[in-house]
Amino acid sequence: MGNIKRGFSFLEILIVISILFILASLSLPLYFSAIEEAKRNTQHSNIQLIIKEIEIFNLKYGRYPYLNEMQNLLSKFSEYPTCPYNNQQYTFTSNITNFRNAFKNNNFKNAHIIFYTYGEKTYTIFYYPPKFYIGNKETKKFHYPWCWTLPSSQNQVFFKTRDEAIEKGYAPCGNCLP
Ligand SMILES: [Zn+2]
Repeated sequence: MGNIKRGFSFLEILIVISILFILASLSLPLYFSAIEEAKRNTQHSNIQLIIKEIEIFNLKYGRYPYLNEMQNLLSKFSEYPTCPYNNQQYTFTSNITNFRNAFKNNNFKNAHIIFYTYGEKTYTIFYYPPKFYIGNKETKKFHYPWCWTLPSSQNQVFFKTRDEAIEKGYAPCGNCLP
């Protein structure tokens, strides 16, 4: 009795490779969006920790920290928080122009840079990625929350991500380049 050894035919291999390719192309975007979401969540929770320290400072000293005190504030953490986008230590700037320039074109390479400015009874903190993007219902453009050409409040519409803004037919602002 002849024992017929049969391997895979070319067609079968082709089908298997195609199936693998289809599976990969289905799951890769999901994989990347899951990574992106994890980074965003880490960034938000890091900033929440920093905000908590700012509030503790205020309770202690009756004022918000100066810019040069912010870096010190971070050294209080047992594990110094680093930016999930680039693994760099956070730095603070009160120069809004520098901050805007650092984030033009959705540039998360600078995601460790935090804008911080304090007033007597208040402070402002901006960081990448923003919790929301602001669309202009009239011009159909969308902006970073730190843009200097934001629409008036009745024309504002909010998007959680820039993908959502683009999906809804809004185009990135030419000034802040979100
Ligand atoms: Zn803008």
